[in-house]
Amino acid sequence: MSIAIFHYQTVMMVFCDANNPGDALSEASKQVMYDLHSHTTASDGLLTPEQLVHRAAEQGIDVLAITDHDTVAGIAPAQAEIARAGLALRLVSGVEISTVWENHEIHIVGLGVDETHPALRTFLANQHQLRESRARMIAERLEKARIPGAWEGAQKYAEGGTVTRSHFARFLIENGRATTIADVFKHYLARGKTGYVPPQWCTIEQAIEVIHHSGGQAVVAHPGRYRLSAKWLKRLLAHFAQCGGDAMEVAQCQQAPDERNQLAQYARQFMLLASQGSDFHQPCPWIELGRKLWLPEGVAPVWQRWSHNEP
Ligand code: AMP
Ligand code: MN
Ligand code: MN
Ligand code: MN
Repeated sequence: MSIAIFHYQTVMMVFCDANNPGDALSEASKQVMYDLHSHTTASDGLLTPEQLVHRAAEQGIDVLAITDHDTVAGIAPAQAEIARAGLALRLVSGVEISTVWENHEIHIVGLGVDETHPALRTFLANQHQLRESRARMIAERLEKARIPGAWEGAQKYAEGGTVTRSHFARFLIENGRATTIADVFKHYLARGKTGYVPPQWCTIEQAIEVIHHSGGQAVVAHPGRYRLSAKWLKRLLAHFAQCGGDAMEVAQCQQAPDERNQLAQYARQFMLLASQGSDFHQPCPWIELGRKLWLPEGVAPVWQRWSHNEP
């Protein structure tokens, strides 16, 4: 399993007081900082894998998972850069798999997958095909709505990485259709809008299976962002747990005041481990690697059994 790994949760650091070099050694404990959800240019992030690992190190992250949409292409270059630059950062090989459940698009993060595993590669190649055909359908719909060139436009922004709706959003902004990503989603790409294509993704069960098969842990991504009622969210978590899923994200940087505690309670109720991640896509004022990431008392962290093996 290619996970970066700690038996302990705090690292004791010893600081030497520069004014009293001989005697005054003070001890302070530094919490290990985990950010287990992030994106690069391999999907819809704006930083290359190399840029992302440098930013993570600068932000004081100790353990970073790169979890691009339906691809692991960012992992090897990130790992190579960590080694080349000698960064004090451990990388967790991750992926964020798009699934469909009860007509909702649900994202399942895989943490600690073997990114070279043939079963995972085959699975992601299939997701890639699904993404490609969906992207063509989105472009056709936009074309019919007198917005030509969307296919080429999205391809241009994807730069050879996984094509996502974010790339269409950037094209539509360039086209003058809206000024913000949120607006462009609201008017063109959200469910029921001109450029929306109903999802054809794999099932949650299939995502969990391939994550486990390639040595990883399966995590429900951002459970608070699916606009599900409490009843439906509990149904989702029950289904995920019943299918053998391991964990759910409890902490993100942007959450309503009670959301984190509520999610922690669900994690306990459905006996799921708890994860945390920024879902960082690009530098912006309100989302940053590691920002506001901590778990409430009483949940078991997803990293609790990670051992000290080298990634
Ligand atoms: P896709 O996987 O192709 O459906 O694209 C999903 C990605 O689009 C998400 O991971 C987000 O990065 C982005 N996204 C989805 N909805 C919104 C939204 N309302 N505002 C901004 N970005 C969004
Ligand atoms: Mn995204
Ligand atoms: Mn997501
Ligand atoms: Mn994400």
